[in-house]
Amino acid sequence: MTDFAATKALFHLPEGMIYLDGNSLGPLPIAAPARMQATMQDEWGEMLITGWNKAGWMEQPTRVGDRIARLIGAKPGHVVIGDTLSIKVYQALASALALNPDRKVILSDSGNFPSDLYMAEGLIKSLNAGHQLRIVAPEEVANNITEEVAVTLITEVDYRTGRLHDMKALTALAHEKGVLTVWDLAHTAGATPVDLAGANADFAVGCTYKYLNGGPGAPAFIYVAPRHAEATSPALSGWLGHDAPFAFEQSYRPGAGIERMRVGTPPVLALTALEAALDIWDMTTMDEVRARSIELTELFIKEVESRCPMLTLASPRDPNMRGSQVSFHFNEGYAAMQALIARGVIGDFRAPDIMRFGFTPLFIDADDVTRAAQILEDVMTNNLWDAPEYKTRARVT
Ligand SMILES: *Cc1c(COP(=O)(O)O)cnc(C)c1O
Repeated sequence: MTDFAATKALFHLPEGMIYLDGNSLGPLPIAAPARMQATMQDEWGEMLITGWNKAGWMEQPTRVGDRIARLIGAKPGHVVIGDTLSIKVYQALASALALNPDRKVILSDSGNFPSDLYMAEGLIKSLNAGHQLRIVAPEEVANNITEEVAVTLITEVDYRTGRLHDMKALTALAHEKGVLTVWDLAHTAGATPVDLAGANADFAVGCTYKYLNGGPGAPAFIYVAPRHAEATSPALSGWLGHDAPFAFEQSYRPGAGIERMRVGTPPVLALTALEAALDIWDMTTMDEVRARSIELTELFIKEVESRCPMLTLASPRDPNMRGSQVSFHFNEGYAAMQALIARGVIGDFRAPDIMRFGFTPLFIDADDVTRAAQILEDVMTNNLWDAPEYKTRARVT
């Protein structure tokens, strides 16, 4: 059994703060600064360029990819890290479209994160081959998987509501209709168990700065099903995805398997912080995290609904249909969230009216949940949010 008190003790959590935003940016693993310091001084400082060989920097993207693979139901050798999630979305989508060349429709849903949709739009423009992005309601995805569709581009957990798609069923349906699947695991990796191999998913991408606690701007990962890995022709054909980067050939030849999804120089320092975070993930399993997460989200919903009747649940009530976050609608949600943050409970706001709270068992326990609900009750029943200082929107909400 996971000792969640022990994992909690491995994070730096500011005194008096209840951090319910690990779904946006995970907290600092206490071991990360010393680990980065060692990499900077002992490796960068002392080894300089020889660090690429001596310190294993060049293998770091696949080595770290293998550690994430365990958390998303992939085998070692099928995941690689690098770039931001938006870039990985573009790469996966371009690869999937190239594998289904006779079809022109990309199917996504209105619960998808805008950057995924924007990247699809940009790719369609560059391809200039008559592709079209079709966006339907999350509940309508299954009905719209038709023989016209080339690829589905679906984020498994809706960033606003926390609604969870059925990856296995949708992937099976897609394959029945000759459709390839790109799954975005931004709000699933480290939040709910994922079984990419078992679901037979084609491509998957996700970020490491949310539930995985890799730090601000930590690089993203990409998974390619082994059956596609050698058939994929990367749209972003950078030198480190080349079969022989140091042969400096004039023309691109894709590297073996997942290696070809690398683009340029890996962010060694950021990957080092991520490795410190992954040490904590080694202390648990996704099934145990999921069981605890469901306990915490059920408790939060029960506490908030009994204390704050003015808030309406925006997340699915059935925990099996929900990721690891709970959202409520409130007209003045932005101001209410600012008032809550001022009192040490950190969630976030998503337009137009969503107050969002993430539950991360590695460092949030039942006590935190109850205290957060008490403070929220104070803010709501006493209209503490109704003050001018809470109504001016900052650049990041
Ligand atoms: C967080 C998130 C992103 C962010 O992409 P970056 O390129 O890392 O900024 C993209 N897509 C989804 C679904 C997200 O949740």
